[in-house]
Amino acid sequence: MRSLSVTADGAVFSFVAHGQRWEEPAKKCTVCHGDGERMAERPVVDYVNGGFLSEVNVTCEDCEGYGYVPDHGQEEE
Ligand SMILES: [Zn+2]
Repeated sequence: MRSLSVTADGAVFSFVAHGQRWEEPAKKCTVCHGDGERMAERPVVDYVNGGFLSEVNVTCEDCEGYGYVPDHGQEEE
């Protein structure tokens, strides 16, 4: 499991697994810009009008809703 702490200097993920605890720097998610949610189009079935696309808020799958992702420092854009 992991938890996120956001400070004035940035954000840090704390991981706890197998009796160990470690931290990784985090950066703002570029997909949702730190919101943890993003807009997505979802088809809505409408038997009268033939259906349409509706914009809905979904949990950002890039950051799993945290708004931040681990910053490994050397990822290429
Ligand atoms: Zn995100």
